[in-house]
Amino acid sequence: MKLYAYTLPLATPLRFAGHALTERQGLLIKLEQDGRTGWGDCAPLPGFSQDTLEQCADALKAMRDGQAQEQDLPPAARFALDCARWQLQNPTPLRLPSPVPLLVGTPDEQLAQYEQLTERPGEVKLKLARASVEEEIALVYGLLERNPKLKLRIDANRGWSYEQASHFATCVPRSALRYVEEPCRELNDTLRLHAQHRLPLALDETTQHPDYQYESLAGVRALVLKPTLIGSLTRLQHLVEQATLDGVEVVLSSSFESNIGVSHLARLATELTPTSVPGLDTLTALGADLIEPNPWGQDKPLITESELKPL
Ligand SMILES: [Mg+2]
Repeated sequence: MKLYAYTLPLATPLRFAGHALTERQGLLIKLEQDGRTGWGDCAPLPGFSQDTLEQCADALKAMRDGQAQEQDLPPAARFALDCARWQLQNPTPLRLPSPVPLLVGTPDEQLAQYEQLTERPGEVKLKLARASVEEEIALVYGLLERNPKLKLRIDANRGWSYEQASHFATCVPRSALRYVEEPCRELNDTLRLHAQHRLPLALDETTQHPDYQYESLAGVRALVLKPTLIGSLTRLQHLVEQATLDGVEVVLSSSFESNIGVSHLARLATELTPTSVPGLDTLTALGADLIEPNPWGQDKPLITESELKPL
């Protein structure tokens, strides 16, 4: 096993819980066996992940040197190791899912972004609970005016009170909503929105808890799972199986990993959640590719293995 540290420039700073990131740091694991190579990307996100890069680096070095077990690895390190192994054993070809465009910014900016899309999508994702509820309801109607058949994946990141979410649910046509991700701070309020308004729900922040266990909940139509936070691919697969048995869609989602990590997530999505479109739209934020050009055709400078710092 070889370990490398990397630093990638960010096009715009990322902010999470008081952390402002101007560059993205992580580790690459390289495994080699019988002429085959497996890479893994370990990139805990400061302010978001429970584990830190230092913890991951120490744990991986200890494991490489025979002083620790893989069960002791923090989630991001375990995810990287499992991906590198998976690539060695099962070199799945990459099939790129057609993306669901994410609209960000103020309601006016989101509308402008929609208008600039070269191909009109059947579905878009909106980040809401950032402007007033009235403005956001108007945004939904603005989009539906442009395409009455458009389906919306809405992410409120727990930003609405029950009353605000209730108002939104009353005013917006339910048939346009694929789901609303985590509308309220309290899970009980979120679940009440389904009981009261039949609002289709998705859970994301709830699944990010380190002890998260799958639970069947009325109204939850989709789960967003972030493999970097989950760690073990076996645990990920188990969660996907449980949800799928319940008819709940699973959307795998990236957390600003490098092109190596995001490519693995795309392969995992092909393998584990073939009927779902993963949320992998974080790669544009990064200013360079590692080892190989990214398969999304985004033109970036390439950092080769010999340019990386071995650990
Ligand atoms: Mg979300």
